[in-house]
Amino acid sequence: MSRTAAKQYVRVGAARLRSLIVGLLALATVTAASACTTGEDRPGIVVTTNILGDITREIVGDEADVTVLMKPNADPHSFGLSAVQAAELERADLVVYNGLGLEENVLRHVDAARESGVATFAAGEAADPLTFHTADEKGQPDPHFWTDPDRVRKATGLIADQVIEHVDGVDEGAIRDRADRYGEELTNLATSMEKSFDRIPEDKRALVTNHHVFGYLADRFGFQVIGAVIPSGTTLASPSSSDLRSLTVAMEEAGVRTVFADSSQPTRLAEVLRTELGGKVQVVELYSESLTAKGEGADTYLRMMRANTAAMTNGLTATGTTGTTGTTGT
Ligand SMILES: [Zn+2]
Repeated sequence: MSRTAAKQYVRVGAARLRSLIVGLLALATVTAASACTTGEDRPGIVVTTNILGDITREIVGDEADVTVLMKPNADPHSFGLSAVQAAELERADLVVYNGLGLEENVLRHVDAARESGVATFAAGEAADPLTFHTADEKGQPDPHFWTDPDRVRKATGLIADQVIEHVDGVDEGAIRDRADRYGEELTNLATSMEKSFDRIPEDKRALVTNHHVFGYLADRFGFQVIGAVIPSGTTLASPSSSDLRSLTVAMEEAGVRTVFADSSQPTRLAEVLRTELGGKVQVVELYSESLTAKGEGADTYLRMMRANTAAMTNGLTATGTTGTTGTTGT
């Protein structure tokens, strides 16, 4: 082969290689696009908590895959990830998380994903957060924004924006339509909550909870937060005996006889409080920060909020009953 012929061969070879690469890239794009809809390779959207997972699925429908990391009936403050889940998070097109310090064991994985170029969206941070008023956490942001359906509606529109911007192949119109429809359901939820809570006399609109989980609901619907069994914004703290004493004093002063405990948390502490107050306390279980498994009473955000609204209204209007009641069947 002469030098010219060799050069020619190299040139032809390079051209063939280029067209081969272009072909392969096109194939890869097609594969990636179909993987987005079939979920074989790419995780699409990864959501940390199951409440945000349900909201995101309502917005996304069949347009993309949504993987939820937190299991039903788990504690958002303490759940952790398996190695497989951590890897999924780092390969996602978009990570939706609560933020504001809620998912304590997961946030470092979200940070790592962001550093490796994954789009991440903190729904709690974007939903006009309130701050705690408790002595220990004064000025710290309160992560439990989902107890206010208006803020969830705001987050719904923002999650839709993020999905359209970061997830390839989704139909923008379909996402907007779904987000709008879900937004209407959230407006209806807020209206029905107002109606239900209107049945509670002004002087009974007082909340004692397991930890400080209902600050947003109290702010939105005009409740007073008397205190919490764990006087903290996280379930990971534990109360001292003087904390329990000052709570019993506050409850005596406010004439509060109902304590709302989370159905996923042991009611042991609330029961201690009941003993302290001579058994004159009713412990009502709510679904405050986790969805249940399918069919268990709070398997969607809307069902969770409706069950809680009914249990809170009943718990604060009922007179003379003490004991523990659950939200199941309400
Ligand atoms: Zn909490």
